[in-house]
Amino acid sequence: MAKYVFVTGGVCSGLGKGITASSIALLLKGKGYKVFMQKFDPYMNVDPGTMSPIQHGEVFVTADGCETDLDLGHYERFIDEELNYTSNITNGKIYSSVIEKERRGDYLGATIQIVPHISNEIKNKIYEAGASSGADIVITEIGGTVGDIEGSVMMESLRQFKMEQGSANTFFVHTTLVPYIFGSNELKTKPTQSSIIELRRLGIQPDVIVTRSNIELGDAIKSKISLFGNIPKQNIIEAVDVNNIYQIPINFHRQHIEDIILEQFGLPITDSHLKYWEDLINTVDNLKNEIEISLVGKYIELHDAYLSVMEALKHAGYKHNLKIHINWVDSESLEKENCDLNAIFKNSKGILVPGGFGHRGVEGKIKACEYARTHKIPYLGLCLGMQVAVIEFARNVCHIEDASSREFNETCKNPVIDLMAEQKTIINMGGTLRLGNYECTIKKGTLTHKIYDADKILERHRHRYEFNNKYKEELENKGLVFSGINEPSNLVEIIEYPRHPFFVACQFHPEFKSRPTRPHPLFDAFIGAAKKYKK
Ligand code: GLN
Repeated sequence: MAKYVFVTGGVCSGLGKGITASSIALLLKGKGYKVFMQKFDPYMNVDPGTMSPIQHGEVFVTADGCETDLDLGHYERFIDEELNYTSNITNGKIYSSVIEKERRGDYLGATIQIVPHISNEIKNKIYEAGASSGADIVITEIGGTVGDIEGSVMMESLRQFKMEQGSANTFFVHTTLVPYIFGSNELKTKPTQSSIIELRRLGIQPDVIVTRSNIELGDAIKSKISLFGNIPKQNIIEAVDVNNIYQIPINFHRQHIEDIILEQFGLPITDSHLKYWEDLINTVDNLKNEIEISLVGKYIELHDAYLSVMEALKHAGYKHNLKIHINWVDSESLEKENCDLNAIFKNSKGILVPGGFGHRGVEGKIKACEYARTHKIPYLGLCLGMQVAVIEFARNVCHIEDASSREFNETCKNPVIDLMAEQKTIINMGGTLRLGNYECTIKKGTLTHKIYDADKILERHRHRYEFNNKYKEELENKGLVFSGINEPSNLVEIIEYPRHPFFVACQFHPEFKSRPTRPHPLFDAFIGAAKKYKK
């Protein structure tokens, strides 16, 4: 039987609830427990797959093809476990499933109500994660802030869950903000107090409070939170601002958060295995040199849209002892006639075009790709980044001037990127992309084979359009190499251009599989090439 830790948030969003949940999971794993993680999002979308990155940041994809909240990326990077469709539950999913059951007649004549039908469905999703993962401890984060109307049923379900399982099997962590007020020059506990009161009004007494602040709290502030929050002082865990998120687990460990949890669960408090993580932090804190990589996208003011890509670049940097400086390039700005590409890419040792949807900014991405190819700057293309590389090559090397993707030009005469037959009949936008793990066979003797050092790999996908095999021979004749193929469907997965120091692009999203202690081979090789280019 699993035990359950719930992480809620108060005062405001953006306090690092996801990092808190991930850190707790990492510490419990460090004690030898099998952990699993889950995120509940209170919005009505079934999943974030149909949401704009402006609304939601990146969509993280699990191996089994679930489109999820970006916090799952943090979870996987911290605990290094593959999560799945039980790991991201939304109100949209809960309500759809209840309504589906009602239509089927499963409720035998009952009036369907928020309590108990919706709340039961929520609790079932928590139990399901426990049962199907076989974990000792499940950590469930609740999105949003306590007091939100959307989240209220989820909170009610947690209250019921605790009633069913008791405090030996459930543990509540509440994250809040302790702001520093300039002028009076003091930390203020009132927002934290109010947020605990709000939580208690919903029937939940937190067991631990994680306080986000920019300076240490000090004893008097802790005593105050303890008194008003009904929390033992040692159960107030400070989350003082850090430069490097991977530092948080160690900061929590020093305050014994995992011991407090294990003690309540009546589980043995074993030794912690965290040396590997301390080594990582040591590496991150002592990176010697910096290197600039250009990231060409259309949401550059919104770094969350490229979170996993940024992290994957950093991970590769750790291995090469390099701090990554990202030169954020707005793809649309490259489309302007007077745009000076030499100035924009002046200091860049590598150019990366990440995934994306829609026509806006695509011509700029094609230009960036052409610049990388013709100036022999290392290029890494991810998903759309591979598609633009194909279009660029077809237009500028094979002289197929109107080459494009069916996505950007429906009547295109030379769709080098096209819709697969089975995608043509799809009506719904949600959940119908090619999603999750697909196998890829790597061609021997290629750079890709050298990078992966494997004949077959599994990578995560999230796209609708594919390379059009009709053009394969023509592009091959001009030197493009199709180095990775999904054999069952004969789909191009990876391309490379050997007449260039490093020009590799893939149809999948390698960024999702990168870990801080284990960079993804493609990112590793890309940063390696960028380092060489620097010399
Ligand atoms: N828009 C492209 C497609 O649907 C690429 C998607 C992506 O980059 N994730 O195929």
